Amino acid sequence: MSEAISINPIKLVAVAGGTHGNEMSGVTLVRHWLRDSTELVRETFTAVPLLANPKATEKCMRYYEKDLNRCFTMDILFSSESEDEPYEVKRAREINRVFGPRGSLNAYDLILDLHNTTCNMGVCLIISGTHKHLELHACHYIQTHLPNFNPQIYVYTEHGSELYDLPSVGKAGISFELGPQPQGVIRGDILQNMKKLVKSTLDFINQLNQAIEIPAFQVDVFQRVGHVQFPLSPDGEISAVVHPSLQDKDYSILHPGDPAFLSLDNKIIPYTGEQPIYPVFINEAAYYEKNIAFIVTKKIQVSVPPLSSTKGKSAL
Ligand SMILES: [Zn+2]
Repeated sequence: MSEAISINPIKLVAVAGGTHGNEMSGVTLVRHWLRDSTELVRETFTAVPLLANPKATEKCMRYYEKDLNRCFTMDILFSSESEDEPYEVKRAREINRVFGPRGSLNAYDLILDLHNTTCNMGVCLIISGTHKHLELHACHYIQTHLPNFNPQIYVYTEHGSELYDLPSVGKAGISFELGPQPQGVIRGDILQNMKKLVKSTLDFINQLNQAIEIPAFQVDVFQRVGHVQFPLSPDGEISAVVHPSLQDKDYSILHPGDPAFLSLDNKIIPYTGEQPIYPVFINEAAYYEKNIAFIVTKKIQVSVPPLSSTKGKSAL
């Protein structure tokens, strides 16, 4: 049996939406909570809504000048301001000042960030590492309490790579990635599911704050290991589409030799990696600007130790 991890009560919680301005579940819910935050109140804390990228949200665009969710690197957050830098770089520093600073004792305890994907990923819970025990416990609580959602856990960082997303400003962070939903569209079913995810996470934190020890468990996660680009013609245009047999098969195993793409003259282009993989973000609209066809993950099992809150006692 591994020893329980003991953490201080979680008091500072933010729920962000509109980090990408055309992902409408988060935009719509956060706008609602900015008018009426009753749903974010718990006995032990009250979460704060954050409309992360107001300029992009106003225009219903993913970003205004630069992808905000790639701007939370240490380099950007702690560099000095200059006149001609993109809006999102300035906005990332502002968010870091209020909800961070990243890596400091003053940083928010937990930041949730609400996203939509055009992929058939259902309910995807995104964390930054397999060592993030609080996040894994929250994800496990969601999996247990919302089994109909069949939530999957995706670890977005490759080993040793730098954090760059909005939740990394907090001491802990989870992004909810729900789909499929077209950009700029509000689907009622997905909006309701997003709301239930936030509710469930806040309920979990509230329980944890009451010093309830939560037992150990094992869980499967999808760990990012790379990505695959679309085949390109010599002039840089996409020359093959995601193969119909791969479309919508996020989290399903893809073996070397299985069809990955279909060229415009109907030739099957197989997956050429050496190992079987689990693709996610298959045919994501927002990744076309980088010619990314899908993200490559491996499925691993993680052992998570028990967790409890010190509730006023000193944390380990
Ligand atoms: Zn997004």
